[in-house]
Amino acid sequence: MITCDEFFAEFGDYLENRVSPEVRKELELHLSQCRACHVLYDSTCQTVKIVTDNSSFDLPRNISESIIGTVMAKLRADRA
Ligand SMILES: [Zn+2]
Repeated sequence: MITCDEFFAEFGDYLENRVSPEVRKELELHLSQCRACHVLYDSTCQTVKIVTDNSSFDLPRNISESIIGTVMAKLRADRA
């Protein structure tokens, strides 16, 4: 199984659907077995959802990506 650090390194790309099917499988396996990363995943998805739900229009894809980028940057800062 991959480590949390490996998971974290791919996490942003995973959310943006930019990982290969093999990597996606590894990440989902890790997610199903690691509570810490599962919580991280949940809270990131919720943050993105809150931001997008509060918009009265459909966010262009590049904006939702930049939201993910912002959340990821904050998560990285929190871990540092
Ligand atoms: Zn983990």
